[in-house]
Amino acid sequence: MQWPPMRRLEGVMTGARLALFAIALLGSPARAADCLYSDALGTARVMSVDPKAFPRVGLKSFPQTLPLADKEVVLTFDDGPLPATTNKVLAALAAECVQATFFLIGQNAKANPQTVRAIAAGGHDIGHHTWSHRILNRVSEPHALDEIDRGIAADDAALGAPATPFFRFPGFASTPSLLARLQARGFAVFGADLWASDWNPMTPDQQLHLLTARLEQDGRGIILLHDTKRQTAAMLPAFLRYLKRNNYKVVHVVPSPEPSRSTPEKSAVSRFRPRRNPSHAPVTTNN
Ligand SMILES: [Zn+2]
Repeated sequence: MQWPPMRRLEGVMTGARLALFAIALLGSPARAADCLYSDALGTARVMSVDPKAFPRVGLKSFPQTLPLADKEVVLTFDDGPLPATTNKVLAALAAECVQATFFLIGQNAKANPQTVRAIAAGGHDIGHHTWSHRILNRVSEPHALDEIDRGIAADDAALGAPATPFFRFPGFASTPSLLARLQARGFAVFGADLWASDWNPMTPDQQLHLLTARLEQDGRGIILLHDTKRQTAAMLPAFLRYLKRNNYKVVHVVPSPEPSRSTPEKSAVSRFRPRRNPSHAPVTTNN
């Protein structure tokens, strides 16, 4: 499988186009239906995810994943926000009119609330990734719960509204007890189906090669990336072009509008109410 070299893609971004996607970043959430670019990748569909039906997804950690069709991918970004790199990721996503899910570290959200709101303004969803990225199976359960709750509270405060009931464990390091608690609180825990190993230093071209080879092998899946990595931010425009040229479809996951919740424990989580976004009308998955 071939993909366009990074250097050739740089020429795609004309000055006019850069200006247009800067406008898109500042304006209302980008949607495929009102995308400014006729050749953009676009978000193919929105999948409503009910945490009760999908309490844990991602084949790297769990036996179940989202019901994606062949050639469908979900884009997820962890560890932000960090303005220097997250803004580049947001620009790349806006240029292709695709939406992703960002799992924020609470202390980064607290330090960069404008970037949190820029993520939301781009039509992306915001999930949680603890307060300080502690590996939760290495600390006591009260400490782990505090990490989870402080992170959620910080993300919500930066956003100015409750974020989504999506959570990802740092390092995918869950415990059965924490998984059960999150499920009882009505959270969907996201693992991943494939990743770019972007925690390892490599050039953007090397990362693109690695990720596209893995995607070609798997054919679909929840993709884990890090918006805090410069190499990922640099690779992303070429990766999105690769998806377009090879007929992959981006699926945007959003929480089910009316998730079923049992009585939550005393927690910041109990304040959650799903964000209603008319552009994200629930759809019925066909598989
Ligand atoms: Zn992480």
